[in-house]
Amino acid sequence: MRLAVIGTGYVGLVTGVCFSELGNEVICVDKDMEKINKLRQGEIPIYEPGLQEMLWSNLDTGSIAFTTNTTEAVRNADIVVLAVGTPSLPNGEADLSYIEEAASAIGEALNGYKVIMTKSTVPVGTNGKIESWIYDRTSHPFHVVSVPEFLREGSAIRDTFNPDRIVVGTDNERAAKIVVELHRPLTDRILVTDVRSAEMIKYASNAYLATRISFINEIANICEKVGADVSQVAQGMGQDKRIGPAFLNAGIGYGGSCFPKDTKALIQIAGNVDYNFKLLKSVVEVNRDQRNNVLRKLHDFVGDLKGRTIAIWGLAFKPNTDDVREAPSLDIIEELVAEGAFVRAYDPVATANFRRLFDHSSIIWCDSAVSAAENADALCLLTEWREFAEVDLSQVAKGMKEPVLFDGRNVFNQQSKEIAAFKYYSVGRPQSE
Ligand code: NAD
Repeated sequence: MRLAVIGTGYVGLVTGVCFSELGNEVICVDKDMEKINKLRQGEIPIYEPGLQEMLWSNLDTGSIAFTTNTTEAVRNADIVVLAVGTPSLPNGEADLSYIEEAASAIGEALNGYKVIMTKSTVPVGTNGKIESWIYDRTSHPFHVVSVPEFLREGSAIRDTFNPDRIVVGTDNERAAKIVVELHRPLTDRILVTDVRSAEMIKYASNAYLATRISFINEIANICEKVGADVSQVAQGMGQDKRIGPAFLNAGIGYGGSCFPKDTKALIQIAGNVDYNFKLLKSVVEVNRDQRNNVLRKLHDFVGDLKGRTIAIWGLAFKPNTDDVREAPSLDIIEELVAEGAFVRAYDPVATANFRRLFDHSSIIWCDSAVSAAENADALCLLTEWREFAEVDLSQVAKGMKEPVLFDGRNVFNQQSKEIAAFKYYSVGRPQSE
């Protein structure tokens, strides 16, 4: 099939590359000229394992191309994929201006029947709006189908090729058939629903996962007070088939471009129909407080932070991505700087993105985990990159003023020989003496 993907960010680029890999003819559109120029030369603007190589091989075969010209891309396509951003407005609602702009451009460009597939996460009812924005600008037939995206940054290719399910939201049989056919090589688990339910499935899924994280974090906070170990608790809970083990890792909370914005948007979606989503409001509040876990422990165990040097391992909101949007590291580092601390920070790939959002003369950007810890009064692990679990901790301890480690992701085994050299604090686990 011939696909035009509008919006070449994390979702659009991965979708475009993966569908070209499957033998479709794909053209990816973005209004960011610099991004498109880089992509034409085979350079990917994000860090996503395996994506670069897959892009190169599909550029070679000519099955993927990049443009800033929406009209041309839409005219040559059977299916148009909407993958532009839907960030939060200050009141928490999803900003639909990119969606409206893209839908209008699609409407202007239509030259025959096409299926418009919305992958962007949009509030319930938005696909209806997209339909009318396009309808107002064309006399050609089209159908808008909601196909929410569930990929995770860091494992986006694996997730795209092995989806748990594909949700296809439409009440039109012709459009459903085309979208199902497109996804058939990926899975048999294709759930066709009405449009509004498809839109809600995406928000409900993210809200539920966020709820599990805040839930286990609250259990962790109680574990700290009653002397239980949240890792053992989560293991015991996860073995119950009704619960399952995923998303029960206690830590300093979720971040990223999806959970924070989608939970806030769902609270607003509920609020707009006079429903007070009390549970989800608490989930958001618990997550906000959980970022203070590291800071609280620093205060308790290091004292006044003014003039102290704090090493930070990990800036990305999670491992295997360079995305720092809404990462806990942003709040934590800003607070450290505000309290007069010096920061030595290291992340394998996310430093440049972090510095675009926050930079300060009190921060030294380091090029390795070991160098970040040099002469530090304390070390805080904020992202569970595999690299950190493999660092030679004895070398780290030797370089520090005092070997104090706050493990915000419970990466280390506190009984291990290497950790014994540190004063070690983790989340929801008994403190080592
Ligand atoms: P992103 O910010 O990385 O990319 C969006 C891209 O769209 C940008 O490159 C921007 O320049 C481009 N764009 C905006 N308006 C445009 C227009 N009118 N024409 C052409 N290009 C335009 O966003 P993302 O992280 O890929 O997310 C996209 C959508 O997918 C969001 O709704 C998000 O909630 C959803 N989603 C994201 C993820 C994820 O892990 N990132 C996962 C599932 C769903």
